[in-house]
Amino acid sequence: YQAKRAKRAICIFEPWMERVVSEQLHIAKRLTAAIAGSRLSLHFQPQVDLHSGKLIGAEALCRWYDEELGNVSPGKFIPIAEERGMIVALGHWVIEEACRQLAEWHHKGQDMPGQLAINIAAAQFEEDDLVTHLLNSCSHFDIPPSKLSLEITESGIMDNPEKAISMTEVLKSKGLGLSIDDFGTGYSSLAYLKRFSADKIKIDISFVRDMLISDNDRVIVATIIAMANTLGMGTIAEGIEHQAQASALLSMGCSQAQGYYFDQPLTAEKFAQCWLS
Ligand code: C2E
Ligand code: MG
Ligand code: MG
Ligand code: MG
Repeated sequence: YQAKRAKRAICIFEPWMERVVSEQLHIAKRLTAAIAGSRLSLHFQPQVDLHSGKLIGAEALCRWYDEELGNVSPGKFIPIAEERGMIVALGHWVIEEACRQLAEWHHKGQDMPGQLAINIAAAQFEEDDLVTHLLNSCSHFDIPPSKLSLEITESGIMDNPEKAISMTEVLKSKGLGLSIDDFGTGYSSLAYLKRFSADKIKIDISFVRDMLISDNDRVIVATIIAMANTLGMGTIAEGIEHQAQASALLSMGCSQAQGYYFDQPLTAEKFAQCWLS
């Protein structure tokens, strides 16, 4: 039986799989060079207060334009970076670039309002030197750590909850903000969530997308908001595309939002116009 299984396992390796693997290897090679050469960029998507409509900060989102491959979406290159051990280096670049940009705005007398959120991959959260790297980067660019907020996915936290909890305590003591990204898509344990002192829960786009047409999704959104309130955390909804979603979320008690309805992810120059004009 074992032999048969093994044989089957070999047989299911189809030629198209080899093409996928070699395409991924090719992308990985070019991405390694792009990281080393700082040929990535950051876009900034505004985050707003739903009551006042005021800007409360932004999420930094990584972008990669490659001469041969064109624009590659993070949905494609982030998983490759994670699988091939490049995400920590990519993450370091993102942290430094975020601090550099904050410093640039500061020196122009154009301080960004609120906090800048950076996505942190699970593998980065496992690294002992994440805190050191964040703090060194802040002090190098003379940025108060409280200007930064980290977005870590629910599954990233649950990979190693004890480590995540102790890491968060250190980060919070230094003034960094913390959100749980893509909430509702993972498998959180309430026992851990209670101990994990995040400021905000980010309601996943999949629930927001369908909340006006699906009773289930609306109930899930309401439950996430109620749970966050109980645990003393705020909520921010991602992927708002319509005014009706914004007003429904507001009436349900969600106070912050982000999505195409307000703004797309913008270049640094365009984003600065959001608070300068
Ligand atoms: P995420 O952190 O959940 O980011 C939100 C994604 O939703 C972004 O996609 C954003 O452009 C998109 N989005 C925002 N508003 C709307 C909307 O109204 N409708 C729709 N359909 N989409 C909206 P993006 O930029 O393609 O990034 C995808 C994912 O890649 C991110 O999901 C995050 O997991 C990852 N990512 C991006 N930048 C970084 C990074 O610097 N580091 C790490 N580790 N991951 C990153
Ligand atoms: Mg995010
Ligand atoms: Mg998200
Ligand atoms: Mg997402």
